[in-house]
Amino acid sequence: MSGPAAAPERLEARTAEIGGGLTIRRALPNRLRRTVGAWCFLDHAGPMDFAAGGGIHVGPHPHIGLQTFTWLIEGEVVHRDSLGNEQTITPGQVNLMTAGGGIAHAEDSAPGAAGRLHAAQLWIALPEAERRRAPAFRNHPHLPRIERGGFSVRVLAGSAFGERSPVEVYSPLVGLDLCASGRAALTLPLEASFEHATLVLSGAVRVGGETLNPGTLLYFGTGREELAVECAAAARLLVIGGAPFGEEILLWWNFVARSPAEIEQATQDWNAGRFGRVAGSPSPSLIAPSAAGLSLRPPHP
Ligand code: MN
Repeated sequence: MSGPAAAPERLEARTAEIGGGLTIRRALPNRLRRTVGAWCFLDHAGPMDFAAGGGIHVGPHPHIGLQTFTWLIEGEVVHRDSLGNEQTITPGQVNLMTAGGGIAHAEDSAPGAAGRLHAAQLWIALPEAERRRAPAFRNHPHLPRIERGGFSVRVLAGSAFGERSPVEVYSPLVGLDLCASGRAALTLPLEASFEHATLVLSGAVRVGGETLNPGTLLYFGTGREELAVECAAAARLLVIGGAPFGEEILLWWNFVARSPAEIEQATQDWNAGRFGRVAGSPSPSLIAPSAAGLSLRPPHP
């Protein structure tokens, strides 16, 4: 790619309800853009206070063909899966679940207590050579942190400023959390072969000359070598990026596949109980919606 980088695209997140009636902002997939690198899904929940019994309550449900990547900023969420893992994720941690050929899990705020929640959950599409791999789960309590220009930069995935995240991914990508408690400014070096996107999680941030507030994903195409990031007051920004994925994916419900037949098979397998049992969740299991009407082409170009 030569010449000046293209202008960034503003992509509006939509609101969606997840288990337990929790309203979140869904920034990916977007009508105008389905992936940023291998990142194919981005939900932003909170920050919010919730009453006793509230919070996140997503009962047992399956995944195939992706990794779920949970970045917890405030609160506590209990992950339980069909491999037998039970893990409470606390602020500053990433939970990475590699679905591969198939896994089921549930995610619940602690029952009974009032609390607070602020989190992002992203999905990473697995490339063809890895998408049927054995399922796995890992909690990452320690992520590299760099102080730069008033921002505290957490390397959630990939690398930045010479630090590398321990989170295991299967395609070239990056995920960063930038947090400032007041005025801050830095220049973020970018991998020019990556496309990137930024989402403000709290406050207001100027990114690449554009003012960004929560609810808008700002997309930058390949060919950029750096990004100016600044804020005038406390703020938090998520930066994701990666090599353009290059494989056509079909994302349906909690599945990432390549064909409607695969989605239909996964739907039948889940509804017939063939993904294994998730023990201990207080929330009811989800029922996979019918994939019968799924067309041969992905729903969005
Ligand atoms: Mn899930």
